[in-house]
Amino acid sequence: MLKLSAPYRPGFAGSPGDLRDKAVLVRFHGSDVTTGTPQLSRWRRWAAIGVWLCLIGAGGALAYLGGERAGIRSLQQGTLHRLDIYSTSLRSELSRYEYLPQVLSLSPDVLDLLRRPDDSSLQFNANVYLETVNAHAQASAIYVMNASGLTLAASNWNQQGSFVDMNFSYRPYFQDALRGVPGRFYGIGTVSREPGYYFSFGIVDGARQLGVAAVKVNLDKLDATWSHSADKVLAVDGNGVVFLSSDAGWKFRALRPLSSETLQQLAQTRQYTEAGSLTPIDMREHRPLSGGAATVVQLSASEARRQTAGEPFGPDYLLDSRPVDGTDWKLIMLSDMKPVHALARTSAVATVFALVFLTLLVLYFQQRRRIVHQRLAAREALQGAYDELEHKVQLRTEALSEANLHLQTEIAERKRAEEILKTTLEDLVQTGKMAVLGQMSAGITHELNQPLTALRTLSANAVVFLARGESAQVDMNLRTICQLTDRMGQITAQLKKFARRSAVELQSVALADVIADALFLLDQRIRQERIQLEQAVEPHLHALCEGNRLEQVLVNLLANAFDATAGETGVRRVRIVARRTPDGAIVEVHDNGNGIAAEVMPRLFEPFFTTKEQGLGLGLGLAISAGIVRDFGGLLRAGESELGGAAFIVTLRNGQRGATTHG
Ligand code: ADP
Repeated sequence: MLKLSAPYRPGFAGSPGDLRDKAVLVRFHGSDVTTGTPQLSRWRRWAAIGVWLCLIGAGGALAYLGGERAGIRSLQQGTLHRLDIYSTSLRSELSRYEYLPQVLSLSPDVLDLLRRPDDSSLQFNANVYLETVNAHAQASAIYVMNASGLTLAASNWNQQGSFVDMNFSYRPYFQDALRGVPGRFYGIGTVSREPGYYFSFGIVDGARQLGVAAVKVNLDKLDATWSHSADKVLAVDGNGVVFLSSDAGWKFRALRPLSSETLQQLAQTRQYTEAGSLTPIDMREHRPLSGGAATVVQLSASEARRQTAGEPFGPDYLLDSRPVDGTDWKLIMLSDMKPVHALARTSAVATVFALVFLTLLVLYFQQRRRIVHQRLAAREALQGAYDELEHKVQLRTEALSEANLHLQTEIAERKRAEEILKTTLEDLVQTGKMAVLGQMSAGITHELNQPLTALRTLSANAVVFLARGESAQVDMNLRTICQLTDRMGQITAQLKKFARRSAVELQSVALADVIADALFLLDQRIRQERIQLEQAVEPHLHALCEGNRLEQVLVNLLANAFDATAGETGVRRVRIVARRTPDGAIVEVHDNGNGIAAEVMPRLFEPFFTTKEQGLGLGLGLAISAGIVRDFGGLLRAGESELGGAAFIVTLRNGQRGATTHG
């Protein structure tokens, strides 16, 4: 879990950047797993895929070979077992007759005949004896030859194709037996043209070799059994000639081409005379198998009697052989390799699938591990970032608290300063008023002195008229005195009103009244200095301001206008205009003085800036006036007047009658 003890603050300048930095770091950790340039890693990936495919292929091939070996082994086990059975049946078929020649050699009938071969009665006895024996033995034929190979008696003596009087001295079994070795021979009968197996045994009379007893065994029964078998089984002799076969077409054919000596020898012994051409079976060794008698062979299409898509050789067969005891024969079995190939293919496919599955499993776990690693790294980085952020937030919070404290102190100080400034400004405004009053003092004194002098004269005259009893004159004088004192009271009231300290309480003020009050104060100067005053004041015009202060502003502006026209030789013209605007009102004061010099213009509203002679101006009038108008939410600016001199324009906001606002 992430630990977030400090919340993220949007206003905190350092936070998003810090987070971004950390995010980059996290991404970097993420991509850090693959190193090197992208192109190099792509090559590596392709190389890895190539190696992987090779490994999969090698695995499949090994599995195929393994499967094939296992298949061959199991096929071989079955084959050998069946070969054992075939061998046993062959052996048992033959062994039944093995003893017979020896038994014949002991027969007195046979011995007698051999001792006296010319005796026809003995020959008859021997023939009957052999016929009788064979009736039990069921051999092909049993017969007795003298030492020259001439048959003296035979079991088939009275049948067509009798062996009697036939000479078999060329047969190896005769020659062997004559040498004292029991003869064993397989061959085709020269008389019967039937193949058979020959057993022979030498017949001796003491040391004298009398002749040979022989038995010919017919193997037709075995032949018939084998031809019904599903196996391809063959029996070959020492020369590799097939003499028994489940496939009749292979009989008396050689497994491989025979040498000329062998062929010559076979011709001498007439072993397979006229039985066949001994043409080799069309079979090629496809692949020898290690450490065994077995090989994989391919039969030609015609031999296999199978169509194999135009190929000269057909499918694979496992050739297994075993010797037949007591002979130079071999039993051979050809087993179809199809099941072996199927097994090999299955195990190859299964192995490839297993390897692919295994690879995917490994990749999955690797990917999982990588993701977990990345997540952990990201989490650590994020935790680090948050820790750092938290630390920074803490530091910033402390700094902010400190700054806040400073700010509060500063605010308090500023408030105090503002208070002082306000008071100072109030004082300044008041000072400005006093200055105006001071400037007007001569005129005011004159204004008051005139009625005073008149009062004195009128009252003195009234005393005289009273003494004379001219009451009507007294009454008239007293009435004039009353008017004059009213006028004086009016002046002092106006002065008092102007001089009072007023608070900035904004309200909708009738501008005509304020203009009239200002002009009243300056009335004496207007008259005395013969100033031509023009007024264009819209009736019922109101604006948001404070009347007493606006009056102070107008007195200032009018007094400056009077001063500006002081040097005029012609008519001194001053015009006061008050008009409505869409958002309030404008009061303009024009004069036909010299106007404002360009170098004076920028400094006009600076405090204590004056162009007037010392004692005539303080340079505070415009600065204070501009401040007052700003407090009203308005603007005071200077420009050129259509009268030729300067124009001062006071812009005021609109105000509801009776509304009270602070500017
Ligand atoms: P003071 O009148 O004491 O000089 P003000 O602040 O009222 O101070 O005026 C400052 C200066 O502005 C004056 O000295 C004058 O030079 C100039 N000034 C003011 N009003 C006018 C005007 N109507 N025409 C020409 N100059 C003016």
